[in-house]
Amino acid sequence: MTSLDDLPIRDDLRGLSPYGAPHLHLPVELNVNENTHPIPEDVARDIIEAIARELLTVNRYPDREFTALRDSLAGYLGEGLSRENIWAANGSNEVLQQIMQAFGGPGRSVLGFPPTYSMHSIIAASTGTAWIAGQRDADYLISPATAVEWIERTKPDIVFFCAPNNPTGTGLGLDTIVAAYDAFDGVVVVDEAYAEFMPSGRPSALTLLEGRPRLIVSRTMSKAFAFAGARLGYLAADPAVTDALRLVRLPYHLSALTQAAAVAALAHAPEMLAMVDDIKAQRDRIVTVLTELGYTPWPSEANFVLFGGVDDPEWLWQQLLDRGIIIRNLGIPGHLRVSAGTAAETTAFLDAMRELTVDRMAS
Ligand SMILES: *Cc1c(COP(=O)(O)O)cnc(C)c1O
Repeated sequence: MTSLDDLPIRDDLRGLSPYGAPHLHLPVELNVNENTHPIPEDVARDIIEAIARELLTVNRYPDREFTALRDSLAGYLGEGLSRENIWAANGSNEVLQQIMQAFGGPGRSVLGFPPTYSMHSIIAASTGTAWIAGQRDADYLISPATAVEWIERTKPDIVFFCAPNNPTGTGLGLDTIVAAYDAFDGVVVVDEAYAEFMPSGRPSALTLLEGRPRLIVSRTMSKAFAFAGARLGYLAADPAVTDALRLVRLPYHLSALTQAAAVAALAHAPEMLAMVDDIKAQRDRIVTVLTELGYTPWPSEANFVLFGGVDDPEWLWQQLLDRGIIIRNLGIPGHLRVSAGTAAETTAFLDAMRELTVDRMAS
């Protein structure tokens, strides 16, 4: 049988691993930070009708400029943004890839701050952009001084922040973003996939866009919006940034059906986001109970919790799996990450943790 090594693949891809969250179907799936609540049925009906209408003209290419969708996304974000500021693609991963294609590439580099979203370095690799791993301060924070020091030392073309950060849940001060922006002439990307889960009143990097044409804020409908399967990510930036992305996107990259589904879903934004407060409550409950059980959960501004104090993450992950519960082992020593699910799913996880922790202490 032919193996990957036998193929004349690009040298810089040899030996790399693909994105690898195990994709298993179990009663309780809390491993990839989805919104585990299904979308409301009346909204689903509206979305189906919108898709059905679009299907009648699916012999034609879709609106290449996805104008209606950009209007809807601008309306959803507010902050004085309009369609010229908005770009979208099939998931924010594709948005990030297009950014890296336009502003990175061979001979260029991107600075990120691990532990962070694994796709940032994977997309860097696939676009031939050198990945520079910066270091965070204590408690996974990034101070303005730390960001500036790394930028001055490594001279990247792009800086990637993730706020709130996956997998730690850590927030990021706007002062750090501003300091990074002012420290070089490159592009600053803030991945705000979890923005809707931030504490209320916490400002988004969207508020910094005015007058900063090299700042890009990426968002997704995959998490809070309960739309992961539909694949819709987007960004807000200066209109010149979207012009840059038009140079690298494939023509008609957003299917007419995706556009129709997303526009219909955005028309029901309050209903789609109705479960966010409940998810935040479940997240806080996870932190409380895991602390009682003797673990060390990190404070989270997203819909998941990274917790330490795990003697044997592999063992605990497998024990949970054997009980029909999947969470995430990211290879951070002594740590696992769990997504906040419905009340019932969260209870199942916490009950299993209680049982396993007692077992472990008894043995
Ligand atoms: C889940 C996640 C995304 C979402 O990717 P999509 O392609 O939009 O589903 C983006 N960034 C981070 C940090 C994430 O955790």
